[in-house]
Amino acid sequence: MPMNFETVEVTTDLLIIGGGMGSCGAAVEAAYWGKKHGIKVTLVDKASMPRSGAVGMGLSAINLYVGLAEGKNTVEDYVRYVKGDLMGIARDDLVANIARHVDSSVHLFEKWGLPLWKDENGGYVHEGKWQLMISGESYKVIVAEAAKNALGEENIYERVFITEPLMKDGKCVGAVGFSVRENKIYVFKAKATLCAMGGTVGVFKPKSTGEGAGRSWYPPFSTGSSAYFTMKAGAEMTCQEVRFVPIRFKDAYGPVGAWFLLFKSRATNALGENYMETRASELENWGVFGKIKPIPANLRNHLGLLDIQEGKGPLFMRTEEAIANLAKAYEGDEKAFKKKMKTLENEAWEDFLDMTIAQALLWAATNVEPEVRSSEIAATEPYFISSHSGASGAWVSGPEDLSAGTDYFWGYANMTTVPALFAAGDATGACAHKFSSGTHAEGRIAAKAACKYILDNNTLIEADAQVVEDIKAAIVKPLEIYEQHKDFSTDPSVNPNYILPKQFMYRLQKMMDEYVGGANVFFNMNEASLTRAAELMEFLKEDSEKLAAADLYELLRVWENKHRLWQAESHLKAVTFREETRWPGYYIRTDKPTIDEENWRCFVNMKWDPNANEWSVFKKPVLDMFGVSF
Ligand code: FAD
Repeated sequence: MPMNFETVEVTTDLLIIGGGMGSCGAAVEAAYWGKKHGIKVTLVDKASMPRSGAVGMGLSAINLYVGLAEGKNTVEDYVRYVKGDLMGIARDDLVANIARHVDSSVHLFEKWGLPLWKDENGGYVHEGKWQLMISGESYKVIVAEAAKNALGEENIYERVFITEPLMKDGKCVGAVGFSVRENKIYVFKAKATLCAMGGTVGVFKPKSTGEGAGRSWYPPFSTGSSAYFTMKAGAEMTCQEVRFVPIRFKDAYGPVGAWFLLFKSRATNALGENYMETRASELENWGVFGKIKPIPANLRNHLGLLDIQEGKGPLFMRTEEAIANLAKAYEGDEKAFKKKMKTLENEAWEDFLDMTIAQALLWAATNVEPEVRSSEIAATEPYFISSHSGASGAWVSGPEDLSAGTDYFWGYANMTTVPALFAAGDATGACAHKFSSGTHAEGRIAAKAACKYILDNNTLIEADAQVVEDIKAAIVKPLEIYEQHKDFSTDPSVNPNYILPKQFMYRLQKMMDEYVGGANVFFNMNEASLTRAAELMEFLKEDSEKLAAADLYELLRVWENKHRLWQAESHLKAVTFREETRWPGYYIRTDKPTIDEENWRCFVNMKWDPNANEWSVFKKPVLDMFGVSF
């Protein structure tokens, strides 16, 4: 093996890739079925599970709880909400399957020790219709502990970055990666593989640059590995055009959910106008989706962004007004008033301390007292996170009882179109708004189906030895390139023979930002800009072969960027293919600025053919199931 790398081979039955919410759900479920049927389960994470993934920082709310036992909502209610928010583009079967299982994941969290807020009657405190308030600083620690206990430490590999799927005759037979701490390459051989490596951050130029570089809404751990892994395996993908642009507290990206839903706050422009009221007539341009309640997130963004573009910014969260409104009832009783104000102030700070500590620090550093003055909010750069308000990911089979007899079913729930390759969480497309709890439930669904697949196909198929050797050589190639050329120039960061990962990332981000609708161009794009991006993308792809790494740390950065590139390219292809604007507020095709229900109420799916090295992009129908239609 070049560069003194040792090869570690691990043979298992089910390989779970990622250690986030989806994988933790998968681990608990697979351990149960595994013990029953003698299935060996192995998990691999690029980081350390208690703090890895998007929940690593903690959360202040569980965003999906249907409350079926309480009889408050139905599965259909949730499907209607999700489909409406995604402007009609969602898989009813996948959303329903998650909705009917999610409550049990929440009950498990509580059993494992997660503090859920309770009201005076012992019921959960709701932030909004679907959200529950939690004291969630240690949310991920608690969920990961349960997963680790279920699997056993000996079956868990941390700090191993998975780079490639292992394939044999079109079937996924495992994965290959490298340790980010030691010179070791890991070859995992499995009968079924479950991909749950989160979404993608860092494809677009971030608003935080210079001293704030690295600060983004989406934590930096998820760099497109799910998208890359499934695409490289040849899986059909869906909704690659659907990015998410959250509006958050400016610069530290603090959450707004508690302010809007719990504190009932308003957002206004700099003139004190509520853009949801002053811009209400704009909603009429977006067909049936402009009339539904709640108004889809992208349309709410769109109205605020119109104000900004007209020079009416910045936008503000009216925290002082919201707190005053909530405390009003206590006026006249000084003691009770003071107590209420203190409680509200505590809740406001805890909301950030639970999940975005940087925002609390920024407030403290800039003397913000939320009860005294408003705080700025702003649109972020785009991200790919299909478990939240995005939708990009693998096209997976629905469950038999809901999907059989339709184009949405091919045998095993959550299996991609590649045999033996399953997906969950941010890795699956067209089932948005599952959030932390729904992702955990989806991980359980996928793991159970994968166990069934293993029992039905109980033979270990191995990849060709040469395939494994080629992948191993490709993994360490950036180290070799660096070693070979580093002395050519006096400054190793300026060298005509290679490109360093940071330089590569800046180039990708600049291109995506300027030509594919980043924050700096107000999320606008058109055919000409997309054509230019496609041209530049080819140069970038050529140069990706020249990525160099001085050490293991940079090798990780190289591979993160190689993965990002595939997410970027598939996004570019999808937004080019969809000749309409369906999600203003997330992006606008200025040359096709209206929604076209007749031609484009459909999924945009795509596939990379590993044999021909060719992409195909095509439409797939949106089915209206359970009477949910718009
Ligand atoms: P993640 O939990 O992100 O896990 C991805 C895993 O993959 C990590 O363990 C990572 O280390 C690993 N990984 C990545 N690449 C590789 C690789 N190459 N090899 C090996 N491992 C790899 N949900 C709520 O319910 N309430 C909220 O308030 C809420 N707020 C949110 C706020 C933010 C800023 C974000 C980003 C998300 C929020 N969510 C919230 C959503 C929730 O965090 C996600 O739905 C959930 O984490 C998705 O789970 P996942 O398993 O798909 O990905």
